[in-house]
Amino acid sequence: MLKLFPKVFMLLWLAASGAAFSQAEVAGSLAEREMRVLATEFPGRMAGTAQERAAAEHLVARLSAVGLSAELQPFPVRYTHVPAGATEPVEFEGVSHNVVVDIAGRSNEMIIVGAHFDTAVSRNLEQAEAGIGGPDLQGLDDNASGVGVLLELASELAGAAPEHKIRLIFFGAEEVGLQGARYVVAAMSPEEREQVRLMINIDSIITGDHLYVHAGPVTVAADPAHAWARDRLLALAEELGIELKTNPGLNEDYPAGTGCCSDQVAFDEAGIPVANFEATNWRLGNLDGYQQTEVSDAFPDGETWHNAHLDRIEHLEAHLPPGRLSERPAQVLQILLPFVWESAGI
Ligand SMILES: [Zn+2]
Repeated sequence: MLKLFPKVFMLLWLAASGAAFSQAEVAGSLAEREMRVLATEFPGRMAGTAQERAAAEHLVARLSAVGLSAELQPFPVRYTHVPAGATEPVEFEGVSHNVVVDIAGRSNEMIIVGAHFDTAVSRNLEQAEAGIGGPDLQGLDDNASGVGVLLELASELAGAAPEHKIRLIFFGAEEVGLQGARYVVAAMSPEEREQVRLMINIDSIITGDHLYVHAGPVTVAADPAHAWARDRLLALAEELGIELKTNPGLNEDYPAGTGCCSDQVAFDEAGIPVANFEATNWRLGNLDGYQQTEVSDAFPDGETWHNAHLDRIEHLEAHLPPGRLSERPAQVLQILLPFVWESAGI
């Protein structure tokens, strides 16, 4: 009885505080902490570099600390970039890694949740000189923010016994052509692709004015029912009173309700239904989801993409609305946790 008391007390406290699941912390706290650690301790996580490898090992250690065994999945990468201090682009060839965790299920179906942990490279001298990509890029928005959310999801899933397997993938080499995600998809047999019910991706949830979730243009064109996860996530957000939008479709190259350009693309192109979270503003610029916020002194092009001066903690904390760095991870997790519980059958 004495032994049970603390647990009962905690359950009562959780019920009274309205906290979901088993967490004693507010949703998003762990995500925000981990986002800050990855951005500040592992800047310049460029595909195939020692720093990307160190970040991958850091993630394995973080997962191990919550009782999850993660695997480093190596794959070859190739891209052109201007290394720090160089004046000419060079061809880089090396090995990048995905970090993969499986939560075993009872069925042979699977849900994949992913976020890339690498940061952008400098593709040409102009970019290198302007601090676009390269060794000083923290990538807080893109994409320590998604990694933080995925780590908190992982900690919530430790010990879970879902109906369907849940595979969490921290992707390497997203910034050089989705090479980590493409490696995963290419390694799957047609039967394995059939067994993936859904791929959820989280990329860049801090800078943008609004939080969005989209379905995949290829799979939805084949069958509109493939947007089931997007629609369920939108409905959950509405029930929770959280503002969540989808692409309004103002640019005909990007059909309404669908997104683009991050790791989920590799899965969408392989016929796997996807839902991707991002924050941006689809009503600005070329209406293509690239411009994240209004143009201002702090954000001269209305975006922070791959910019080492802008996509960093000090700048974002000083110039985004107060509380943004806590609020967004919390919002995504409040929507994502019940969705994963429901769709994986926990
Ligand atoms: Zn990204």
